[in-house]
Amino acid sequence: MKFDIITIFPNIFKSYFSESIIKRAQQKKLVRINIHNLRDYTIDRHKTVDDRPYGGGFGMVLMVEPIMKAVRDIKKVYPARRGKKNKIILLSAKGKKFDQKMACQFSKLDQLIIISGRYEGVDERVAKYIADQEVSIGDYVLTGGEIPAMVLVDAITRLIPGVITKGSLKEESFFLDLLKEYPQYTRPEKIKINNHKRRVPKVLISGNHKKIEEWKKKNIKVDIDS
Ligand code: SAM
Repeated sequence: MKFDIITIFPNIFKSYFSESIIKRAQQKKLVRINIHNLRDYTIDRHKTVDDRPYGGGFGMVLMVEPIMKAVRDIKKVYPARRGKKNKIILLSAKGKKFDQKMACQFSKLDQLIIISGRYEGVDERVAKYIADQEVSIGDYVLTGGEIPAMVLVDAITRLIPGVITKGSLKEESFFLDLLKEYPQYTRPEKIKINNHKRRVPKVLISGNHKKIEEWKKKNIKVDIDS
């Protein structure tokens, strides 16, 4: 799967995407992540990407033109050939809330183009005529779409076959929509926290696999609101 992220702060992504599971997924060529600097798609010598909002108001708004050019160029390099599925996402606090189900749907695409906003937001024509969907990572406002873009790439990448062990996905939260993973413990077996001895549940160190499985099942949280 290919991710194309459009941003005015390309350096933000370097460190996160060059570590751990996401790094290995790229090395194994299971995913490709391209970061596109929006300023490369401007036409003036100042590389302007924003302007004042029509009708007045606070702050600056990202202009539609460079975004349109970036999306057009990205699509040229990787055209939606027959059978190839792609989607263009605009990150926005007012978008549809991202969840595990959406991550699963996106993981089946061949390409995801992610437009990351900044300042007061993005000219509405991007949401209306360029993006397929507006996506939010939660009901709060961040300074930019870079963290949301990393959230999407991370959650989607780990669902791509071969990125992590299948069994571990099955045991994770949200695998069946309403399940939340059982609690996890590791060494040490006993530790003093705020003057109280806190131990790992005895059953987990019993070596009795049947009992351990029963304990795990019993301790899965079921979200009845889902
Ligand atoms: N004025 C906008 C509003 O009230 O919704 C907030 C703009 S925010 C400061 C700048 C950019 O950050 C947005 O265009 C969007 O791309 C991104 N952003 C902020 N919060 C987000 C969230 N919860 N989910 C996804 N993207 C978000």
